[in-house]
Amino acid sequence: MKDLKRALQTTAMQLFADDFTHLDLAQQFRTVAFVTRGMIAPNWAKTKAAVDRSGQKQVYYFAIEFLPGRLLASNLLNLGIKADMEAALTAYGVDSALLYEAEAEPALGNGGLGRLGSAFLDAMASVGMPGNGNGIRYRYGLFRQRFVDGYQVELPDDWLRDTNVWEVRKENRAVIVRFGGQVWLRPDATGQLQPEYQGAQEILAVPYDTAIPGYHDGVVNTMRLWSAEPVNDPNHAFTMADKARADEITRILYPDDSQVAGQELRLRQEYFLVSAGVQSVVHHYLRFHQDIMRLPEFVAIHINDTHPAMAVAELMRVLLDDFGLNWEPAWRLTEATLSYTNHTLMQEALESWDQQLFARVVPRLAQLIGEIDRRFRARFTRRYGELLVNRAAPLGNGRVRMANLAVIGSHAVNGVAKLHTQLLGESVLKDLVTLYPRKLLNETNGITMRRWVLLANPGLTQLLDLAVGPAWHRAPLAARGFAAAAQQPGLAKQLQAVKLANKQALADYILATLHETVNPQALFDVQIKRLHAYKRQLLHLLGILADYLTLLDGGDLPPRVHIFAAKAAPSYAYAKSIIKVMNAAAGVINHDPRVSGRLQLIFLPNYNVSLASRIIPAADVSEQISLAGTEASGTSNMKLMANGALTLATLDGANIEIRDAVGAANIETFGLTATQVRAYQQVGNYSASAVLAESPLLKRVVAMLTDGSIPDIQLEGRQIVDSLVLGNDEYFVLADFAAYQAASRRVEQRYADPAGWAQTMAINIAAAGQFAADFTVANYGREIWDVRPTHPPRE
Ligand SMILES: *Cc1c(COP(=O)(O)O)cnc(C)c1O
Repeated sequence: MKDLKRALQTTAMQLFADDFTHLDLAQQFRTVAFVTRGMIAPNWAKTKAAVDRSGQKQVYYFAIEFLPGRLLASNLLNLGIKADMEAALTAYGVDSALLYEAEAEPALGNGGLGRLGSAFLDAMASVGMPGNGNGIRYRYGLFRQRFVDGYQVELPDDWLRDTNVWEVRKENRAVIVRFGGQVWLRPDATGQLQPEYQGAQEILAVPYDTAIPGYHDGVVNTMRLWSAEPVNDPNHAFTMADKARADEITRILYPDDSQVAGQELRLRQEYFLVSAGVQSVVHHYLRFHQDIMRLPEFVAIHINDTHPAMAVAELMRVLLDDFGLNWEPAWRLTEATLSYTNHTLMQEALESWDQQLFARVVPRLAQLIGEIDRRFRARFTRRYGELLVNRAAPLGNGRVRMANLAVIGSHAVNGVAKLHTQLLGESVLKDLVTLYPRKLLNETNGITMRRWVLLANPGLTQLLDLAVGPAWHRAPLAARGFAAAAQQPGLAKQLQAVKLANKQALADYILATLHETVNPQALFDVQIKRLHAYKRQLLHLLGILADYLTLLDGGDLPPRVHIFAAKAAPSYAYAKSIIKVMNAAAGVINHDPRVSGRLQLIFLPNYNVSLASRIIPAADVSEQISLAGTEASGTSNMKLMANGALTLATLDGANIEIRDAVGAANIETFGLTATQVRAYQQVGNYSASAVLAESPLLKRVVAMLTDGSIPDIQLEGRQIVDSLVLGNDEYFVLADFAAYQAASRRVEQRYADPAGWAQTMAINIAAAGQFAADFTVANYGREIWDVRPTHPPRE
């Protein structure tokens, strides 16, 4: 602690020419972060040297989004000096909780996809797998969300304003990425065809590296994020226009979630990420290896979702054009090096690009994909027929289909939950699985237990340590013993006390941000995730309105606080309407004295990792109510169960695996199954109006959206009702309503029995270990990457 105090003092002097205690909070944060970074650095260098020297195989995880969350507390935790640093800060009179909040949040992702990538980077370092992130250093991250008159307003996320202390700029590792122009193939002296570029635009890709320390193991991996700059050629100065064109590429994160962003700029971002990443991987490989033919023995490149799927063609380009390989050996290397994770079942969210646009932006890749397509058809058409091969080919209907390209060019493709993988094989990947029956695998998603329990919930951590010992920090399954331990009334009482204290802390935050008083004894019912029709926040809202009417009718329901947080893509009008209606409904319900203290709707603005960390430890109920067959996995379901929330769920994504882990008695499930939904969709015999006609309560609830009982939502209310009635309720909200209400009542009955509830809490906490990302990456390593952890998580 003395050493840390001295280090803070010295660093404060070096950075700010002042005493640590004289600095403001932002400066103190920077000082602490610099000291921490300095302590990470030696192991970072050592890890890199050790991996290169030993020739261990490395994973490169390509993703257009990462969502790390704030890094200081997590880095201190993983280094094992968090308590010491906090003691040093206390000695200087600094509140560490406030200091952590002075860190700008790196919001380089929209939601689950980016969060998964960051969880994997943390997990790979923590189990000792050489793993690198490869992403984009967006100048502006995901917008900050504010509500004005209940409407979502998007503010720019200027996260790099006060310099990012964690990153190291590596201009010596910069590479050039080429866009546009024309490409001709000409034979060289040996007769080999060589591409010649004319009028292409060259952009410099500069890497910024961030250390990813593992938990208490001395391993430090790297997240490499690329920034676009004009090429700095001493003989040819760049113009302001060149600079603007370059800057544009890495200026913003597309705030579009699961819809296809069809903009040319998005295509450029994707190629920039892929080309910089592939070139950098190959350059690094060649510094330590001679034979390019052995690339897959030392390198695994993973394509997270289709955004980096161009890696298939880009690696082919490098192998053919730069190394002069022939097609077949180059293709064998590419397939052996690449693997791909699919994240969506929804046809409309499958990424594809107009072929002409594609050829204009990346002409050489367009040629190569043309050849991949030609060979694919030649190989399979005779045996499987033109129809099937047309559907599975990389090119079709004038478009480049990224998922097809990714599957064809990878040796493995995985879904992210058992149900999702099964449905992939039956729907969007059916044809490709016919052609490549061994490629499809399941790897259920996982979460960073240490961030979501150790960091976010110190009270529960203490209790777990007491009950089962601290082994679960590294061996997540060790938490299993907690279920039995919590049968002692003493521990069960402590667990209830921890939950209540967490709810009180969230209540304080709600009071400070929204000026609403909530009762921590009430049931805290949480739904936090991106706002999307398929996730069905609307079903939750209709449930709240129904309860409101029930209370007004004199019914008796236990006190309940509904807590939401969600961002809507700025261009997603329907999702924004839901936000507006939610906020307007909150205005009515929260200020109606007739339901005072019994029903509240709290919508917290600006959902991000930090807000999630506040809400999750305080949740009693975790709403995971997507239409069955639409949510690939979900990960907030895992975070919430790990903190003792009861899952109120449809049989979708990883909810099914959560049910299997906790037993049907410790989860509430309801609603149509994926099979039933598909049957409705195929036959076309679902009638939303018929459901509405049969339920007087539902009719009254839906009427509230347009009859003025919720003020100021004429357009939004109408839009939602139209989607339900005229649009025949695409996501089966009305179909599941009655089952949802019944499940909701069952949840309340359980909650009325505090002892039983405490047991359910304990069983959920105890069973969450299997969803630790430590296991997930170890499974990817064994089944896909052929990379083994040096200290695997103990089973
Ligand atoms: C975990 C997480 C998500 C993913 O939530 P789902 O409910 O699985 O969609 C999204 N955003 C943030 C900030 C998260 O922490």
